[in-house]
Amino acid sequence: MENKKITEFVHVDESNEEKISTKITIQSFENEIQEIDVPKGIVTFLGSKNGKKIPYLTKNRYSVSDLVHCQRKSLYKQLGLKQEQLVQDLSIEQMWSTVRGNFLHQMTNAYDWNELEMQYKVNLKDGKQATLHGRLDMYDWKTKTIMDLKSVPNLRHQVKHGFIPKLQHILQVQCYGTMFESYIPIENLNLIYVDNNDIVTYKIQKRDMADWIKTRIQEIEDACVSKQIITGEPTGLCQFCKYQTKCYADENGITHTPLSVPKGGRYN
Ligand code: SF4
Repeated sequence: MENKKITEFVHVDESNEEKISTKITIQSFENEIQEIDVPKGIVTFLGSKNGKKIPYLTKNRYSVSDLVHCQRKSLYKQLGLKQEQLVQDLSIEQMWSTVRGNFLHQMTNAYDWNELEMQYKVNLKDGKQATLHGRLDMYDWKTKTIMDLKSVPNLRHQVKHGFIPKLQHILQVQCYGTMFESYIPIENLNLIYVDNNDIVTYKIQKRDMADWIKTRIQEIEDACVSKQIITGEPTGLCQFCKYQTKCYADENGITHTPLSVPKGGRYN
């Protein structure tokens, strides 16, 4: 029977060459073992593999990506505005780009530690608290290095013209450095860009982003209360933003014709 199993450790005492045996039985752990619930992460994982969708709570909850990209877009999310519909479906190139990114992410298996998740708590004014959610692609514990993997088209061309590394990617990996620092040792931050032909890696300076994170979130939270729409931060990514009609109407955002429209009608 299983609980009769005995593990025997034998230690030879060289002074008198007598064998000293210590027997440990499972019964000796009786008061030290307790059955607990299946860890939440496993339940969530199993659910997601069986088509169970978990509602993404936006209230006071941010991703690092929300913070390093357009602040106005994060505000719209926090206000719970309905997402619009992109006028054009994704092109074959854009869809391929997403799939290629997914393939390349298999490279994260190069290290034992990958996909580390973190909920970083941020104390705001008036006793409020926000949660910043972040996930590491790769971590090399030997060199204490955080690595963030980015899949881009035409890598060499982008490097040559100075489009890479992108500011939001630098801020993103620096935020990870700050968020994970209390839990794992971090000495280096690396940004790794890949395309079909090439890999280019940059070492990014570590920086304490705690104040930046707090201020960035606080500004969005304040705008939620005052209903003052934050100025937009237009970039090439606006073409994929699902708030373009709203952003255009609110002014100080995009100035080109919106490429997304409200699903069931217009905004008031
Ligand atoms: S369209 Fe661009 S500027 Fe406007 S909210 Fe979206 S990302 Fe921001």
